[in-house]
Amino acid sequence: MVYDLIVIGGGPAGYLAAERAGQGGMNTLLFEKRSLGGVCLNEGCIPSKALLYSAKIADNARDGAKYGVDASGVALNHPAVIKRKNKVVRNLVAGVKAKMKKNKVTVVEDTAFITGRSPEGYQVKAGDTVYTGRRLLIASGSVPIIPSIPGAKEGLERGFVITNREILDLEQVPEKLVIVGGGVIGLEMASYYNSAGSQVTVIEMLDHIAGATDLEISQILQKNYEKKGIRFMLSSRVTKIEENAVVYEAGGQTHRVEADKVLMSVGRRPATEGLGLENIGVELDRGAIRVDERCQTNVPGVYAAGDVNGVSMLAHTAYRESEVAVNNMLGRKDIMRYNAIASVIYTNPEVAGVGETEQSAAEKGIDFEVAKLPMMYSGRYMAENEGGDGICKVLIDKQQRKLIGVHMIGNYSSEIIYGAALMIEMELRVDDVKELVFPHPTVSEIIRETIFEI
Ligand code: FAD
Repeated sequence: MVYDLIVIGGGPAGYLAAERAGQGGMNTLLFEKRSLGGVCLNEGCIPSKALLYSAKIADNARDGAKYGVDASGVALNHPAVIKRKNKVVRNLVAGVKAKMKKNKVTVVEDTAFITGRSPEGYQVKAGDTVYTGRRLLIASGSVPIIPSIPGAKEGLERGFVITNREILDLEQVPEKLVIVGGGVIGLEMASYYNSAGSQVTVIEMLDHIAGATDLEISQILQKNYEKKGIRFMLSSRVTKIEENAVVYEAGGQTHRVEADKVLMSVGRRPATEGLGLENIGVELDRGAIRVDERCQTNVPGVYAAGDVNGVSMLAHTAYRESEVAVNNMLGRKDIMRYNAIASVIYTNPEVAGVGETEQSAAEKGIDFEVAKLPMMYSGRYMAENEGGDGICKVLIDKQQRKLIGVHMIGNYSSEIIYGAALMIEMELRVDDVKELVFPHPTVSEIIRETIFEI
């Protein structure tokens, strides 16, 4: 049998592509070598959020006195948190399986390897069987980067150094947790384990945390976490992993911090090895599959969506890219745009942003104007955040008076930011936003308030 589409990888890019292809009438085969749902459902977005929600409940209860709630003796029961997280993951993975069935997608739980091309289509081998597909979608995702620091490999082997996979499944809360890398994954795990009682140290090479996040917001986040007891070692380079410590250099000096576990979270790289891409001539660009705006590779009929193309390693980007790829396969015109993809850090407080930051706009030479307000200007935020120091920042293009960026720190930001993404995607002007009516009292009103500062 020749399939209309073979999908390699059952993460957000792969399973959504298979679902959409099935809905579009394509006879689709999906390979997954570990677990349907990919990194996102099994060891990424969802399990981390399940853990963080438990931590948020505990944090709020501990803070109860500020709100007239007496909740003494609050404790986070880590094994119970992990158990609940596992239940959430199981249910969601079962949901993906059901969707595959509903859309008549054939799922093969095995490792796929592209062997070449025949007149009928692309050939993919799993076990002893060779499958043929007229089109291919590579959605193999990404893997954690393990830097070549002395002792890192050995540390991994003995379970002292761990990645996102293991940290979401630890049976015990480590007394001393060192996190190498202060990006989104590192910060979310720092947030959970800080609430769970670990003494957390984050070592970051840059002079700020949270990567490309608005600098002022990253500093507010850092201050919030320093108050909770997390230590940040910035402009610091890890040079060695020892038996029970991490050695790093900062300001020309060598330092050593003891650890029970070390989370390596310095970034992820596209998973392109061992797929057989070379057998059909798929081009890579610095380790990522090169794609055009339709998510098609240099090989006709071969597409790549999600982390594997390295453009924006987020699950919601993966979803949209997979839809763009499938729409093009079905002959529907569709292209991928990246200017309004929101990013969120689900710490407590949450951070969310979309579009240009002051830093990126300046680098691009955009003539922009910024308006900023404390979140306390929102009645709902004030009612729910005793002593909160959140802010909302809006950037506009000065010439076109168009919204180009919105950045926030404060709870509910993760749920509000899609509205800002929509405004940027729709190219709304300042005057358009001023005419929008936001529900009151909601924290989202802060966007409207901030716009009126312009
Ligand atoms: P993946 O989810 O990586 O799925 C790829 C799948 O392909 C895997 O299941 C793999 O087993 C399979 N595969 C690979 N090779 C083969 C093969 N040869 N044969 C068969 N199967 C194969 N993103 C967000 O947007 N929001 C978040 O809150 C968020 N939190 C995160 C938290 C953590 C701790 C981590 C690690 C990541 C997080 N991400 C988050 C990123 C998000 O998980 C990824 O962007 C998303 O999973 C990418 O989807 P994907 O389909 O491209 O790849």
